[in-house]
Amino acid sequence: MNKVYICFPQGKHKALTMSYDDGKEEDRRLVKIFNQHGIKGTFHINSGIRDQVRIPFEEYAGLYEGHEIACHTLTHPTIERCPLEKVVYEVLEDRKRLEKLTGMPVRGLSYPNGSYNEEIKRLLPALGIRYSRIVGDTHDFKLPTDYYEWKATCHHNNNLLEDGKRFVELNKKQYLYLMYVWGHSYEFSRDDNWEVMEQFCRLVGGRDDIWYTTNIGFVDYMERAKGLQFGADNTFVYNPYAASVFLSVNDRIVEAKGGELTRFE
Ligand SMILES: [Zn+2]
Repeated sequence: MNKVYICFPQGKHKALTMSYDDGKEEDRRLVKIFNQHGIKGTFHINSGIRDQVRIPFEEYAGLYEGHEIACHTLTHPTIERCPLEKVVYEVLEDRKRLEKLTGMPVRGLSYPNGSYNEEIKRLLPALGIRYSRIVGDTHDFKLPTDYYEWKATCHHNNNLLEDGKRFVELNKKQYLYLMYVWGHSYEFSRDDNWEVMEQFCRLVGGRDDIWYTTNIGFVDYMERAKGLQFGADNTFVYNPYAASVFLSVNDRIVEAKGGELTRFE
């Protein structure tokens, strides 16, 4: 019987993703740091708040290229206190405006002020939202079990370098690991601690054993992995999607290409 495990792209077993809210001007400096180290981020935007400190829409396509633009609701209300109809409007209208800018489906969310409840969670799939980040830190690298209550490994002000060091040193391949960092780019200016992020990116960036991805990139990949169609005797797999999924078969990396049947020899 073949021993088949799901892997991240190229057979990796560690993934890193970053999640930053509010779309303020410090995103420019943050994106630059990410780009220097091949790190991918998700930027959660309130498309209904336009003021001096927010990145103008005209800059989005260039600035956030290669990263994810996601929702943070239209006007940043504490949605737990809002009527559900208002929550629907806040999410859908944000999606519509962001999709006009990106020309792509926008399917991610982070809860403004970390506010949510069970009713709101149940609503989100019907609004086209595939995941939503909450506030708080796990300080571990486990994969999320509920994408609508996705808790990060750490905020960048909360043991980032220590957690990053532990992440880089992980080498056991029995498990898949995800490090997920969150925050707001304006906090680096406020706290005068850009060097924390610069050091972190130098530490974790540009490594062969880490998959750098956006929040939705992670969700989509894991969704594809779950949708693979394996033969009952475990000697082949059909990938019904367009993009590849990587497997470890008897400790050998196998690429299950999109739209193809792959036999394990
Ligand atoms: Zn916010």
